[in-house]
Amino acid sequence: MTTRPLPPAPEPLPRPVTDAHTHLLSTQEFSGLAVADALAAARAVNVTRLVEVGVDVASSRAAVALSETHPEVVANIAIHPNDAARLGVNLAGALAELEPLAAHPGVRGIGETGLDYFRTTDAAGRALQRESFTWHIRLAQRTGATLVIHDRDAHDDVLAVLDEAGVPERVVMHCFSGDAAFAAECVARGAWLSFPGTLTFKPNEALREAARAVPADRLLVETDAPYLTPMPFRGKPNSSYLLPLTVAFLAGVRGLGLGDCCDLVNDNAAAAFGGGWGA
Ligand SMILES: [Zn+2]
Ligand SMILES: [Zn+2]
Repeated sequence: MTTRPLPPAPEPLPRPVTDAHTHLLSTQEFSGLAVADALAAARAVNVTRLVEVGVDVASSRAAVALSETHPEVVANIAIHPNDAARLGVNLAGALAELEPLAAHPGVRGIGETGLDYFRTTDAAGRALQRESFTWHIRLAQRTGATLVIHDRDAHDDVLAVLDEAGVPERVVMHCFSGDAAFAAECVARGAWLSFPGTLTFKPNEALREAARAVPADRLLVETDAPYLTPMPFRGKPNSSYLLPLTVAFLAGVRGLGLGDCCDLVNDNAAAAFGGGWGA
């Protein structure tokens, strides 16, 4: 197993918060941090609930299994847009395998789905991403689960596909990466915007403007671990126990007290994913 040195734990948060998007299983592979240890480290800093996100059939099944064994974890299931592009003719088979998982009570979200024009540059791959995204939107509509969108360098097309397929009741823009104008477009569609550690990166002033501009009840925080580690640990492995760094930063951006910011993002996560799980 590869092991990369993990950053030290920050000060515990004064109130419980939810990591709205993480990959405990990839984190285990990437940094050697076992899932049970990651959950214990998160709990120690008051990150008491987590949304574990699948990116293919195997990791979606594993996310569902984690939701059964760990009451603080709920699952999101999906074929990630880059996986959809890679699957080619096998995409339909993978989607058919994924679909029955949606009925599991631990599944609160359909995603991460969407478009990734950064990693997928060919027209055929992007067409598969749009097809897969539309399929996931329809699944979210049928099941009532929250749609969780991955959008990398594809803001306009993400909105176009969403508008064409019909916006589900609940939508989360995971790893929000747009400016205030795009944030307003998302909020107009009823979306929550989930901010990762990139909020703390020095060049990302447009992202901070977006975080300042959106209505308070639309704000979420996430790690998207094992990547996007907040400052001052950018480049090191990420994990849910580092979420307090992003929460504290968001509190500063919004001019909120830390405890109030915790309550805000925690209540918003409950609204976005249905609540009623974990602490
Ligand atoms: Zn993503
Ligand atoms: Zn992710």
